[in-house]
Amino acid sequence: LDEHDEALQEERSPTWHARDVLLERCRRWSVPCTLVSPVPTVTAVWAARAQSGGAASSSLAGRWPIIDIIDRNDVEPWRRRQLSSPVIAALRDHSKRVLCVLNTPGRSRLLACRSCAALIRCIPCGATVAQRGDDSLHCVRCGAQRPAVCQSCSSTALANVRPGVSRLAEELTAAAARPVLSITAETDELPDGDVYVGTEAALHRVSGVDRVAFLDFDTELLAPRYRAGEQAMTLLMRAARMVGPRERGGRVLVETRLPDHPVLRAAVLADPARFISSELGTRRLLGLPPFAGLAKLTGSSVAEATSQLGATDRVQLAPDGDALLVRAADWETLADVLGGLPRSTTLRIAIDPPR
Ligand SMILES: [Zn+2]
Ligand SMILES: [Zn+2]
Repeated sequence: LDEHDEALQEERSPTWHARDVLLERCRRWSVPCTLVSPVPTVTAVWAARAQSGGAASSSLAGRWPIIDIIDRNDVEPWRRRQLSSPVIAALRDHSKRVLCVLNTPGRSRLLACRSCAALIRCIPCGATVAQRGDDSLHCVRCGAQRPAVCQSCSSTALANVRPGVSRLAEELTAAAARPVLSITAETDELPDGDVYVGTEAALHRVSGVDRVAFLDFDTELLAPRYRAGEQAMTLLMRAARMVGPRERGGRVLVETRLPDHPVLRAAVLADPARFISSELGTRRLLGLPPFAGLAKLTGSSVAEATSQLGATDRVQLAPDGDALLVRAADWETLADVLGGLPRSTTLRIAIDPPR
């Protein structure tokens, strides 16, 4: 149940995912396997198609809240962030309990074009890109590299997007005209109140709210991880469960510069399958799981592993900071090649890394 839940993947190496273990056991025993989720992962849908010819789906429409997409393209991305009027209206409505979700400070690294205000993205895969010392743009999701030029207008003047989290907290208090309680990973006891602000972890902590507002959803949508889209969909799902269906007034607000992103289109239509279909196509083209095997190597022995793995052409290597991404045509090849590395406590291997 809830196949999309990241808690089903073991955090310790070798990072088993309960779904994959279950699928393999069922295959060996020749018994049917049923995976249930309101927002199944691409892997689950692909497995269902491979084994039984398809995924059954029932409409979420009756159980889904209203998803308000608030297009923030009216504000230049490098200016100080301001709350949108729908969010301010939600905060001012004192009959409603509100949770505002913000990313962890420092995790968001977005670049924007100073000339046309587009967010700078990887051309093959659409993720956010990082600017390197030599001024090239680099994507850690798919490894693509290109000169630091806007993909929309070819301008070379790029600016950092300023999330301004601390100012935003002050602004929330001013807009709400009631106390705004912040929740962090260190918050033990949940303070009693009607307006909360916190990272996505708050979606597991708070209950009984009427509104969830995502204030920087683009950093989720464009996160440099190949599963960013389905993880973003999972966040919307959690928020949807929290506020309840539209008949009972449930409403989720999403501030974004990407109102036409497939995740948001699917969410508005209460139809996650729409997103999964487009995502399956993208993954196939880019050679990402489930159409390839992927592992992330970390630890102090990465350099040695890199030189050893460099000797075979059965895997592709892509450095990601201090880590190394290893990709093979399938899981068997990946396991075979990684199995040839010397066992070491200074090398951590995460198979199909969630983050
Ligand atoms: Zn531009
Ligand atoms: Zn990319």
